[in-house]
Amino acid sequence: MRKGRVVAFALVFALAMTPSAAFGYRLLGHRLKYGVGDCGASTQYYYIDSSAWAFAPTCESAMSDWVHTTSRLGITTPISYKRTTVKSSSRMDIYSKSYVFPSGVLAGTQFFNGSTLADPSGTDWVWGKIAFDQPYYSQLSNFNMKGTASHEMGHVMGLNENNSNIYAVMCQLGCGRVVCNAQKDDLAGINYLY
Ligand SMILES: [Zn+2]
Repeated sequence: MRKGRVVAFALVFALAMTPSAAFGYRLLGHRLKYGVGDCGASTQYYYIDSSAWAFAPTCESAMSDWVHTTSRLGITTPISYKRTTVKSSSRMDIYSKSYVFPSGVLAGTQFFNGSTLADPSGTDWVWGKIAFDQPYYSQLSNFNMKGTASHEMGHVMGLNENNSNIYAVMCQLGCGRVVCNAQKDDLAGINYLY
């Protein structure tokens, strides 16, 4: 009896918490110093290293869905990115590596000012570096490869994990993400930041 009462209380508590936790976006704290493209007035560039060329179509599709949201979702953001082959022009570099993260981690993002690592909770950053962990990443479905690429791009732009919202691309795959591209709540975060 006593145990049953405890469980019932926990359920009520969980339900009461759900509305505020299940929607919206979460931020890293700071943002890209030079923005995300200013609606094309200051287009930003991303660079795909040769190590990740096998995933270039996936990355291009993920980025296209961050850029072209007006027709897809009826939401407009300042995001304007184009791919470049000139690494020095890039503010989002994409690599593929092997076993660089703790076991099972699919990908990661680091933040930089010049060559100095930046803590995104404490300072703006000039560019971000995405790395897929190829042995794990390459085993994903095309849908989840794209979703993971899109998720890391969201980190570079300043969005944090949003693991209580499975309909946000910023939800980690391991927490049940069911989408493969930027969604309403992710874009709301971008429009708050920029
Ligand atoms: Zn993440």
